[in-house]
Amino acid sequence: MTHLRLTRQQIETMVGLSYESAPREACGLLTGQDEQVQCVLVAENIAADRGRYEINPEQLGGMLASMKQDGRDLLGIWHSHPGADARPSSTDSSQAFYPQTVYVIISVPREGNPRNFGPVLSGLGIDYAGDPGPAVLRGHLCTEAGGGWREVPLLT
Ligand SMILES: [Zn+2]
Repeated sequence: MTHLRLTRQQIETMVGLSYESAPREACGLLTGQDEQVQCVLVAENIAADRGRYEINPEQLGGMLASMKQDGRDLLGIWHSHPGADARPSSTDSSQAFYPQTVYVIISVPREGNPRNFGPVLSGLGIDYAGDPGPAVLRGHLCTEAGGGWREVPLLT
């Protein structure tokens, strides 16, 4: 996969949930066809540790089953990094179980939930300006299980 294509509304759903969940990480799946995301799925983060995410395994099973039934593929896994940059952590690498999937990471401030935010830049990733702080999205293709990464553009 060379890039991932999302709608602005899908991006704003993930950014909004990332702000709301901080300081806990928000997480979920991106399903669709080819490079086009059709659904942003929101998952329950059951990790005990604040600085991690773990999708409720029962919920994950249900999401993957309904995705197949609808003829969609797993294109991505998204999660937030409150107070950290939008790059895979060593934990993300050790838990990268889905090669050829794009891991979308959303950096948000550790605290604060702005009422309004909007896109300010569009490049390899997507940046948002909000009060109290910016959100940055980056896409990282998992090239091998256990943590080989290649940054891929997120396009709208
Ligand atoms: Zn992470």
